[in-house]
Amino acid sequence: MLESANVLCDCWRMEIDAFGFEHTYRALPEQFYARREPTAVDGPRLFALNKELATRLRLPLPTLLAHGAQIFSGNQLPPDAQPIALAYAGHQFGGFVPQLGDGRALLIGELVDCEGRRRDLQLKGAGPTPFSRRGDGRAALGPVMREYLVSEAMHALGIPTTRALAAVTTGESVVREEVLPGAVLTRVAASHLRVGTFEYFAAQSDWPSVEQLARYAIDRHYPELNGSDRPFLGLLKGVAERQAALVADWMKVGFIHGVMNTDNSSISGETIDYGPCAFMDAYDPKTVFSAIDRSGRYAFSNQPHIAQWNLARLAETLLPLIDSDLEKAVEAAREVIQNMLPDFEGKWLANMRAKIGLQTEHATDRALVEELLEIMHRCGADFTQTFRRLCDATQAAETPSATGERFGLSSEYDAWALRWKQRLAMEKTTVAEQWDLMRRSNPARIPRNHRIEEAIQAAVLADDFGPFQRLGAVLCEPYQESEEYREFEIPPTEAQRVRRTFCGT
Ligand code: AMP
Ligand code: MG
Repeated sequence: MLESANVLCDCWRMEIDAFGFEHTYRALPEQFYARREPTAVDGPRLFALNKELATRLRLPLPTLLAHGAQIFSGNQLPPDAQPIALAYAGHQFGGFVPQLGDGRALLIGELVDCEGRRRDLQLKGAGPTPFSRRGDGRAALGPVMREYLVSEAMHALGIPTTRALAAVTTGESVVREEVLPGAVLTRVAASHLRVGTFEYFAAQSDWPSVEQLARYAIDRHYPELNGSDRPFLGLLKGVAERQAALVADWMKVGFIHGVMNTDNSSISGETIDYGPCAFMDAYDPKTVFSAIDRSGRYAFSNQPHIAQWNLARLAETLLPLIDSDLEKAVEAAREVIQNMLPDFEGKWLANMRAKIGLQTEHATDRALVEELLEIMHRCGADFTQTFRRLCDATQAAETPSATGERFGLSSEYDAWALRWKQRLAMEKTTVAEQWDLMRRSNPARIPRNHRIEEAIQAAVLADDFGPFQRLGAVLCEPYQESEEYREFEIPPTEAQRVRRTFCGT
């Protein structure tokens, strides 16, 4: 996945061919964005290039390897790049901010990939924009590495996400609580449309722009709604379904986004804006990593409720489009919002069934899953390892108590395992098929916080990107058994545990 190119290119103003960029967002009226060039940096160095993604985007690999440092720092963009900073607003921790916008990111163009899907290319950390306000427009190396690793791991886990194409260090420092090396991440997204983009125009009562944005979102992400009777209600439903599926996917792998503000909530249904995100080790539904989330608003088990809260904010912006009769619009939107949680629960349960090897549905399944989670919580069992090892417990030779001991679960596990085995016996699938389903539903390796931190420390303190490269490779095939990568499955010791994560802005 990663390529250690370490190309330090001192050749200024190279001949770089056009990338084949298109600019549909820039074709929208000028209130949607601000034109702004990246601010050049002193000593860019390419430390990560995602060749698989570059190939998918039909980009010229030799050019990227030779000039990646200049291109991905923004020092010299391809001739057809037309950088813009996008305007948006957002509810942050429940409070509305009427103008946020890309304060440190530039959309440089759109590419249609080899599967015909339109993708945004964005440089994150490329310098100030009109939306920067007091920010410096830069990104620190640690958060860039974290986003690179976690977004690519998320993709490998099969969960919708923005991706990382490249990362460079800038050769400059950024000042946060301490002085840190600067970096730029090249992010690839289905789009950068956010709930907050709709809020930006709705807060100004600029309904023509809301409508234009909604039509753009439908064309790009929900084209099947074109020509339908109620396209804008359909848009709300589409976002509700994708967000419900996304959060259900996060929760099947123990992921906590950490900052689900409406400006970090994507209309396409991808995971976006990896800040203080983290995967939990020991299972606890109340887990919070983000240092700024003091009330636990974005705790693990609160994520579906917040996704619904965010959807309600989107609905408010769409009401005038949904129906000219406000009461009717509210009624229709309310139904969509109310359906979101039951929809999430169904999707979550389907995910959890697969994790314990079930393909059919039975009325007692929810209770069976919840009981296991309760035991895991009481025992402080590792979320990822418990489910992964449960795969082996499908084998007839394993007695419950032997399995329970291996998981570090209490004797309560034995009683649960008996019920689980009885339930598995009701399936039409063979033991081998159940095992296979569980292997495909329970990753062996997730980007554990302490490993990410280890990789960041090596790069920041010793300019050693070896641990970053290795961790990237380890996370590429999370469902494959691997003797070589066994150490990356192991939860942190008490001393290794990282309890707090930071936005890094
Ligand atoms: P985030 O926490 O990354 O979702 O960012 C929230 C808002 O703050 C967005 O409008 C960002 O563009 C802006 N922002 C974050 N960090 C910076 C920075 N270093 N310079 C300028 N703006 C920033
Ligand atoms: Mg954000």
